[in-house]
Amino acid sequence: MNFCSGVWNQFKFKTSLNVVAERIVLHVDLDYFYAQCEELRNPQLKGRPVAVCIYSGRTEDSGAVSTSNYAARKLGIRSGMPIAFAKRNATADTVFLRADLDYYETVSERIMSYLRTFSHVMEQASVDEAYLELTGISSGFDQAADVGMKLKKGLVEAENLTCSVGIGPNKLISKMAAAVNKPDGLTVITPDQSETFLSPMPVGKLFGVGKVTEKRLNEEGIETVEQLRENTLQELKKKFGAGMGAWLYNSSRGIDDEAVVERKREQYGRIVTLKADTRDPKILNDTAGALLADVVGMVRKDGQAFRTVTFIGIMDDLATRTKNRSLQEYTDDVESCTMVMQQLIEEFLAEHGGNLRRMGVKVSNLGEKKGQKMLSDFM
Ligand SMILES: [Mg+2]
Repeated sequence: MNFCSGVWNQFKFKTSLNVVAERIVLHVDLDYFYAQCEELRNPQLKGRPVAVCIYSGRTEDSGAVSTSNYAARKLGIRSGMPIAFAKRNATADTVFLRADLDYYETVSERIMSYLRTFSHVMEQASVDEAYLELTGISSGFDQAADVGMKLKKGLVEAENLTCSVGIGPNKLISKMAAAVNKPDGLTVITPDQSETFLSPMPVGKLFGVGKVTEKRLNEEGIETVEQLRENTLQELKKKFGAGMGAWLYNSSRGIDDEAVVERKREQYGRIVTLKADTRDPKILNDTAGALLADVVGMVRKDGQAFRTVTFIGIMDDLATRTKNRSLQEYTDDVESCTMVMQQLIEEFLAEHGGNLRRMGVKVSNLGEKKGQKMLSDFM
């Protein structure tokens, strides 16, 4: 592998061996994620405008559009738009759906496990976005592009979902590269392309510039990133304060040394909607068993163990009730926690009347099982 290809610049850093490794970060952004998940479980939606909404419940249409697919976007139906407003743009075949966050979360967890197979350093940025550190994994941007292509192809094969991928010398550029070519895009921006890539962009597109800063920059006559770059570090610090000034100065040059950081999970869980409202212990136990096998599988895959097991019941009046128990020691064993879960379900039914509409399981209080090999033993 050749770690020294290309010209020296600020995006390269030295390893302990004094070999110059080019930094490469890949950003994955699932396309119109909530709406794509809905298309996934209901293929008849494909081709129709779909708006996934968060209803606030005050009136029938109060709330906002959370995600719309591209057919809906063509009608001008966009995320953040009030539902009543979106309906004015809707055609007869437009579908408005209530967001099912638990379902999207389940799909997301599978995708994140898949993405983890491409790098040992991954940062989940949201339910549908992640950064993968490819430094030292890909020898250059061409090879990183191959990784991006493989990742996209595998995602379609495994989950039938498309994503947009951005590859750059840092998190900032990779994130912005993924955003310029959607849906189903793959954009590679090398270190020497970074400034040109950013130059024509409105300052508001610079990831990290919020509405307030955008407005203030515009008031200073700074509309594009190129114009932002015309300001000296001192000028920006004076106008925006030391921290923000330095950040604007660096970002406008495509400089960002923020690390890709794996965030530790605090719990694993799954919730499903039951086929019919019920309080039949057999159905609840069978469902819990299947969910636990899934959840514990994920915990084990991540080399973790847990001490607390929770049963979650969402009643037919939509009230959420839980029952949990903590074990003496950390475990990652499906059978033993299935037994605990059966007790919890029995107690739950004794305590609460009414049918369950949805149910879920959760394991938390994560740690390491006694005698378990440390992750470092494998490295
Ligand atoms: Mg997305």
